[in-house]
Amino acid sequence: MKNQDNEQFELGLSTEELERRTNKDALPSTTMLKVDAPEFENLAEGDKEALKHLVKAGKILEEVHLQLDNPKNIPFREFLKKEIANGNKDAEMTMKLFLGQKGMNALDTESNMINLAKGVEETDGKGFYPQDLKAEEFQNILIKMLKDGKDEEVAKIVNQRSVVFRDGENLKAVDYTELFKDEFEKMAQEFEKAAETSTNADFAEYLKLQAKALRVADPMADAYADKKWATLQDTPLELTITRECYDDTLSTSISENKELLQMLDERGIQVYPKDSLGCRVGIVNKESTNDLLKIKKFLPEMAKLMPFNDQYEQNIKPEGDSKQTMVDVDLLMLAGDCGAYRGGVTLAENLPNDDKMSLTIGGGRRNVYHRQIRLGAKPEKVKERLDAILDSEQHKYYNLEADHWFTIGHENTHSLGPTQGREKLGKYQSIIEEHKADVGAISCIDMLTEKGMYTEEQRLQILVSFAVDNFLKAKPELTQAHRVRSVMQTNFLERENAVVVNENGIIHVNVENVVPAAQKMLKEAIRVQLSQDVNEAEKYVNEYFVWDDACENVAKNVRKISKKLNGFLETPLADKLAEE
Ligand SMILES: [Zn+2]
Repeated sequence: MKNQDNEQFELGLSTEELERRTNKDALPSTTMLKVDAPEFENLAEGDKEALKHLVKAGKILEEVHLQLDNPKNIPFREFLKKEIANGNKDAEMTMKLFLGQKGMNALDTESNMINLAKGVEETDGKGFYPQDLKAEEFQNILIKMLKDGKDEEVAKIVNQRSVVFRDGENLKAVDYTELFKDEFEKMAQEFEKAAETSTNADFAEYLKLQAKALRVADPMADAYADKKWATLQDTPLELTITRECYDDTLSTSISENKELLQMLDERGIQVYPKDSLGCRVGIVNKESTNDLLKIKKFLPEMAKLMPFNDQYEQNIKPEGDSKQTMVDVDLLMLAGDCGAYRGGVTLAENLPNDDKMSLTIGGGRRNVYHRQIRLGAKPEKVKERLDAILDSEQHKYYNLEADHWFTIGHENTHSLGPTQGREKLGKYQSIIEEHKADVGAISCIDMLTEKGMYTEEQRLQILVSFAVDNFLKAKPELTQAHRVRSVMQTNFLERENAVVVNENGIIHVNVENVVPAAQKMLKEAIRVQLSQDVNEAEKYVNEYFVWDDACENVAKNVRKISKKLNGFLETPLADKLAEE
């Protein structure tokens, strides 16, 4: 990076706004493992030593995330540091927000875009593309480059793992491993050191493969690392380099340009949105992992329930062994993209995603659940919310643990359904995929209850909690895949008389209608995925992404009692180990 040390900025928020957003009700923290955590104390010495190196690598990756998110992030942070040293209180508050959302721009819990510096707004291409590049020019340049026979360069531009720069009239792509050579080399060295002391041979082997993948511009190297990673079940430690593609809406804009799409198709070039990078470091919780594994034997049955399943291959086959591992993890850190608090932080992840090559060489997938995020919810806050929005008769069916059971169904359902051509759905691909995982999980509830996975009581709790949690605090933006799908589901459940909201914004769930409604939606979602047609996806999303009076009346009640606007993760043990 060039010398950006002295770049000047103007703070984006007023003193009053900063005070409102940084008080502890508006910006509560969630604490990862503490310095005296027994989970850490109980580890073998070699694993304790390995963790030191893993958190160091995580901190390095966080710097890469910041650059991919917005090229101004690091200069802005340096500017804030200087201002804070000069006693600027506003800069101090701005820094709190910056550290929580891990970047200058983020949506809050009410889907307001928060820009921490004046004039520095989020672009469609984030830090992956030139800041002044807009969709139309981008597409025209690609068409011209293809006409000029620059197919190979275009393929690099539209892959998941490159940053794109202007090159005269053209564009050029630089692979992450080249652009972040220094950072990745340091990370690779930390992984190798961790591999030396790790007490688990499989984990050590994964670390070595991951180190190698950071040093070469070759997706197959990642594939071998991912393949090994996905087999890890009985390891004391957890490390993931998360690669998820929710942020880049410039690449996905290509799906709206028929001429360009056809040219790419003819040349066999696939377009993928860019990967944001994150790093998860933790300790596997054996006991709660055993609870998770109970669902494993039912996965083939779930695969059988997927609609139209004779028309596609699934990651989990209806017959035979499922290559799916799952662990519940006590977290030391969520660094970079996966820990950026932008209205929330994810409860779990199922990786690698279907665009990754490990799945083409026989690799499976692995689910990792985030204990500290899940257990961070405060019971009194939950009760307050229920009082504000749910029929008091049904409070007994709302259960935080049920939300976890539902999440288990959701994550596993990501491994079900069609795997091909999701990228053809352009900016709707993530919405449809998240939606499929939700309604797929609910669709299987009756089968899982019959087979003894859940009791009848737990079944009711999952259904009521699901229906209630689809109601949001504010209307989301179309870029918020996880939230848009919630609104769609609420709308559908209303149409099917599965939820009813009175004029005071109080929800009643007609439980018997929830599963049939989810099954109907699942059929639609899979039909859209199979169509591989962005117009079908758009039609479907527009049909149900309707923020109606019911949504708004419930949201009003939530906003009245919840002052939370964002949050941040505290990582005391990781911070200490990184210093050692
Ligand atoms: Zn998901």
